[in-house]
Amino acid sequence: MDTCPECGAVGDTPCGDLFRRLLALDHSRREPWGPLHGVAVACYRLQHPSSLAQGSHRFPLELLRAYVEGGAEAATRLTERARRANSHRARQRERTGAVPHPGVPTGFAVTIAEVAVDGGFPADRHPERVRAWAEATLAAW
Ligand SMILES: [Zn+2]
Repeated sequence: MDTCPECGAVGDTPCGDLFRRLLALDHSRREPWGPLHGVAVACYRLQHPSSLAQGSHRFPLELLRAYVEGGAEAATRLTERARRANSHRARQRERTGAVPHPGVPTGFAVTIAEVAVDGGFPADRHPERVRAWAEATLAAW
């Protein structure tokens, strides 16, 4: 059993491996994973700030707030608006990689390990788990 230094998840599978599994499900575009893709990425990034470029926590936080308040449709609308507005320069800035954030939270009430359940991200109650993940992320930030 290992403890993730960023989100505090305890388990045998590193968070990065779980995240790659979740992305594969998201990209299948099937329910219930596909529509929650943007929310899942925002949760993961905010719980693993080394994957965030400096300043880039603003959009994922905004996305989670929209999701918790308005549901998956509100999050999708925000993502589409941002995609249209997103300049090439902003995207390049995002790619410049890991800048450590002083004072970012570590240790969350719900982590990717809970969302994964047995490591397979079962469909049953997946939206409820993603919602709890989003709420725990927002609460810590
Ligand atoms: Zn982690």
